[in-house]
Parts: sequence; structure tokens; C-alpha cells
Amino acid sequence: MSLNKAVLDIRQRIKVRPSPTNVPAASWTGSDLVNGVETKTLTMIFKTAGCRWGKAGGCTMCGYVYDCASEPPTLEDYKAQLEKAMKKAENFPELMIKIFTSGSFLDDKEVPLEARHIILEALAADPRVVKVLVETRPGFVSDENVQDCLDIMREKPFELAFGLETSSDRIRKDSINKGFSFRDFVRAAEIAKKHGVTVKTYLMLKPLFLSEKQAMEDILHSIDDAAPYSDTISINLCNVQKGTLVESLWEKGQYRPPWLWSIVEILKQAKAAHPELPMMSDPVGAGSKRGPHNCKICSRDVADEIREFSLTQDPADLEKVDCGCKELWKKVLEIEDFTYGTPILE
Ligand code: SF4
Ligand SMILES: [Zn+2]
Repeated sequence: MSLNKAVLDIRQRIKVRPSPTNVPAASWTGSDLVNGVETKTLTMIFKTAGCRWGKAGGCTMCGYVYDCASEPPTLEDYKAQLEKAMKKAENFPELMIKIFTSGSFLDDKEVPLEARHIILEALAADPRVVKVLVETRPGFVSDENVQDCLDIMREKPFELAFGLETSSDRIRKDSINKGFSFRDFVRAAEIAKKHGVTVKTYLMLKPLFLSEKQAMEDILHSIDDAAPYSDTISINLCNVQKGTLVESLWEKGQYRPPWLWSIVEILKQAKAAHPELPMMSDPVGAGSKRGPHNCKICSRDVADEIREFSLTQDPADLEKVDCGCKELWKKVLEIEDFTYGTPILE
């Protein structure tokens, strides 16, 4: 059975529940670095027609596809989604906007061109908005649509975000089923650069079928490979989302989300190798069984130091917490390679 078929079989058993199409899938406020300065952010996950790659099977860890609308939103719906999300930032004097769709903002079949224009025009006209980031699969990036976005944004900084996950084509294909190559990413990043658009590259620590040590090595290589094409690197820590192949293997004891010590070590080494490149990680779900975790005692504190480092970029912030479970993690790194990817500890 192909990896895509295994994912699709799971997708077909899960129904997308009907939900209002004029409300975003999610939105929240936070902080991020804009030109090295800590800035308020508003993240919006638009409810769209859904990721076409994900609806046909797609990525092994992705449960976001179930966030899509049960029927395609109208232009009025998109306007209402934007307004509802923006309410959360009404008191911010300035902010960066991050747009995700659980798919690709630049796919016209997912987000109609008119909707894209309405959203970007509203953000371009808001003087408080200092930067706009949109996420897309690299295959949807062209000279024409990047220029089209810039024509609307005028002088406002614009960023494209790509879920590259790894620079290894083999891991992207055989562990993630991502459906594009490193070369595709490079092509899109070069178009962005040509137009003065910055690039944020998302990597993912510990996809299926890798030991903890292999997963760390994969991310360290990937940072080196992606650095020349990236203005920021953000490392997602794989978590166990509902309705995914990752979940079905996790339920059988064949997958464990990454240790937080692994990302701490990665950030230390990668920052030393690339001191000028902003790199960050938001350990979503840290400490829970489905999320990245160490032991119960230290997970929260280690997650906090990772978040702090993401804003300060100071490696000293990664040295603040220690715990006895670090020795256990070191043992896992030593011996898990001999279990062919099956976790030796829950
Ligand atoms: S991770 Fe992105 S590209 Fe993959 S299925 Fe999910 S939304 Fe689509
Ligand atoms: Zn611990």
C-alpha cells in the first residue's frame, strides 16, 4: 500500500463537521521578531475550500485538513472571517499578520483570487499592520502572483512561508508524503527573493519512521541546506493530530513525538553555525502525550525556554533548565537506532 493510500484511507473515515463558513478556523495573538524587534502578531487560520493535496491524501502528520469549510466560503464569508480575527488585535498599535489556510493562500482553487485581493487590500490599508506573512505550497508561487500581491501591499513588507519540513527528498517523500521536492522549494524561494519578498521556512522535527537521533541529524542538515534560501527558520515539533497516519502508528506504540531536549540541542548547534539567521520554535502541545515532551517535571519549563530563545535569539536562554531526564534522553539517542524507529520509551 502506498503512503498516500494509507493516509487517504484514514481521511475517508473522518467526516468534516459542518461549521459556519464566516468564522475563521482559528485566530490568536502572540509575538514574533520583525527585523529583530519583538512585535505583536495576529495569526489567522482562514477556513477555505481546503488543501487540495491534503484532501487527496496528503501529509502523514496533518490533521489541519479537517479545519476546512464543508462548502466553499463566499467572498462575504472571507470578509467576515477577516473582521472577526482582526477584532482580537483591535487594541494593538502595530502588529504583524500571519495568514494560514491549512493549505495554500496562493492556490486560486482553494482561495479565490477575489478573496485574496479583499484580504490583502484590507491589510495594506491598515496603517497598524507592519508586515504580512502568507503560507503556501511552493508549487503555487509564480512571478505573476507574487507581483500581484506586491502591487496590493505596495511598500509593506511581505513574507512567504513554506512547509519544507526537511531538505531530504527521501524523508519528505517516504516519511511525510509531502508531494514536492527541495528543488520546488528553491524555485519558489528564488522567485520570492527576486521580488524582494522574505522567506520563512518551516521544518518539522521527527516525522514518522525516524529515530530521535536520525530526526535531529535531519533537521541540522536541513537548516544548513535551507539557510541560503531563508530569512527565518521555524522548527515545528511533530505532534499527534487526530485523523492522521502519525496518530494511527502512535496508538500502536510505533511513534513517539520528539523530546524537547532534542530541539534545545538543535537550536544551540544551529545558532552557533548560523548566528545571523533567526531561528525559532513554538513547542505546541509541549508536555502532553500527543505533543513533544520530556518528563512531567521539566517539560513546561523547557518549552518556556525554547519560546524565550525564539524571541531573544540568545543561546544562554537554552541553558536555564536542567533535569534528570536528560540522561535518559541521551540513552535514547544512543540505542534507539537499533530498534528500527520503534520508540523504546513512551
Ligand atoms: S501539511 Fe500542508 S500541504 Fe500537507 S496536507 Fe496539511 S495543509 Fe496540505
Ligand atoms: Zn525532565
